[in-house]
Amino acid sequence: MGYKIIEIKVPTGYSDTDLQQRIGKELRLTEFTWQIENKSLDARKKGNIHWLLRIAVHSKSLKDKDPEQAEPLNIPYKTRNKRIIITGSGPAGFFAALVLQKAGFDTVLLERGAEVEKRAQGIRLFEKTGKFSPVSNYAFGEGGAGTFSDGKLTSRSKHISAERNFFISSYIDAGAPAEIRYTAYPHVGSDNLRMVVKNLRETYRQLGGEIRFETTLTDLVNNQGTITEAMAGSESLSGDYFIVAPGHSAYETYRMMIARGVQFRTKNFAIGFRAEHRQEEINCSQWGIGNLAGVKAAEYRLTSEGDGKHSVYSFCMCPGGMVVPAATYSHLNIVNGMSNYRRNGKFANAGCVAGVHPDQLAGRQVTPLEALQWLEDLEHSFYDYSDGYSAPFCSISDFIHSTEPRAIPETSYPLGLKPAPLWNMLPPVVTGALRAGLIDFERRLNGYSKGILLGLESKTSSPIQVLREKNGLCTGFENLFLAGEGSGYAGGIVSSAADGIKIAMQIIGINA
Ligand SMILES: Cc1cc2nc3c(=O)[nH]c(=O)nc-3n(C[C@H](O)[C@H](O)[C@H](O)COP(=O)(O)OP(=O)(O)OC[C@H]3O[C@@H](n4cnc5c(N)ncnc54)[C@H](O)[C@@H]3O)c2cc1C
Repeated sequence: MGYKIIEIKVPTGYSDTDLQQRIGKELRLTEFTWQIENKSLDARKKGNIHWLLRIAVHSKSLKDKDPEQAEPLNIPYKTRNKRIIITGSGPAGFFAALVLQKAGFDTVLLERGAEVEKRAQGIRLFEKTGKFSPVSNYAFGEGGAGTFSDGKLTSRSKHISAERNFFISSYIDAGAPAEIRYTAYPHVGSDNLRMVVKNLRETYRQLGGEIRFETTLTDLVNNQGTITEAMAGSESLSGDYFIVAPGHSAYETYRMMIARGVQFRTKNFAIGFRAEHRQEEINCSQWGIGNLAGVKAAEYRLTSEGDGKHSVYSFCMCPGGMVVPAATYSHLNIVNGMSNYRRNGKFANAGCVAGVHPDQLAGRQVTPLEALQWLEDLEHSFYDYSDGYSAPFCSISDFIHSTEPRAIPETSYPLGLKPAPLWNMLPPVVTGALRAGLIDFERRLNGYSKGILLGLESKTSSPIQVLREKNGLCTGFENLFLAGEGSGYAGGIVSSAADGIKIAMQIIGINA
């Protein structure tokens, strides 16, 4: 069978039949199969928006040979008498557990939150009544922080192609749309993610893996750099290796690790608000029209130099989505964003954050514990302001001009808005940068200042990073790994999963 790659432009509303005919005509073929390798929207000219497709065509009439496929992740299996305790069922912990279980290790996965079905009920109840559940919320529970998200699967890291391929294949096998393999900005949607997470759990269990829900890692027993036991309340679990992948919201887990000798440093992170607009406004700004056949909803990615010292950027856009109450503990008020696969909601939202270092906020060098405390206090101050989980808000234009919001607009946020002088609710170093950034964003995206800002967006990235050796071990430890976003080396679903997979491969390598 011969092979050829072709690149073609097609109208946004194309059908598979159109595409089949077009390929046949282009290559003068009647019998062939084809597969999209890459798909991206070219919206540079508003009057001529189209898809750019890269298509692999197979036919007896073609001469070229198939190109070599990207190297798959090689997970060697053998019977091993080693037990690994993994904490956190987010992308990092889950994929570490899956790979190790496939390699023949005996793995136990601890998750403080509930399984995804129960978690979804807890979240629905929270959004209806404002009653927060510590085991079923946007941060904690099966699948981790990204389970109720837009499920964007973009990653900027260039060194994870085998890990990324393994992750994408696992997601597709678990029911994610096959297009995530080739679209330029793949996303799964919160509705699909719930199914994917559930199906992956079944795969892991069929391999012999054990998951314990509503089981919190409360302590680690450190015997001079070797962890001998993980404590879950009064229960003790022994193991040969321990991987902790708690995300970057579990403050008490961070504090426990610091108390047990795990070393961290502070690092740059980002803080700000979530901007919400009518999706139609964004569509009009980006496309020149409110709707475009064959494209779900317009997206934007904005960056600015801010005040020249702190960059400002949009983050984690959820087109056609909703702003969600992403409180991680009952005394904190945090927002984030999600959307379903069809991205067909009335509103668009995205983080709008400024990059900053904890030392700049304090005006002196701070310790990792102080950085965490600062962030928790800030999240608490937003809770105090609202006396609960309504989101402090003002319009973007109010923020730029420091004017009190006059009316409460329509929003996707389920727990209500509370007018707030947001420009006074973050340190001046952050609000100054954000103001400059917002003015810049309005210049780049017509109508941007018609949106509103909701606070607080504090989970873009972690302010601390663990000290790690080249092989991924926590510095000073023989058998302890900290994986994923909580380690400070990953951010997002794909890079966190890849970090967990890399750590699993290290353990396989040590025990080859
Ligand atoms: C609402 C929302 C939307 C998002 N949207 C996207 C998106 O579209 N695309 C994207 O790439 N990223 C998105 N993110 C970020 C993404 O979810 C994270 O980067 C990613 O999940 C981090 O993976 P992780 O495995 O390191 O940690 P997490 O996913 O945070 O998982 C950590 C897990 O550990 C558990 N845990 C914590 N402490 C303990 C303990 N002591 N004992 C037992 N269990 C514990 C938690 O309950 C949690 O399940 C979103 C995040 C949120 C909150």
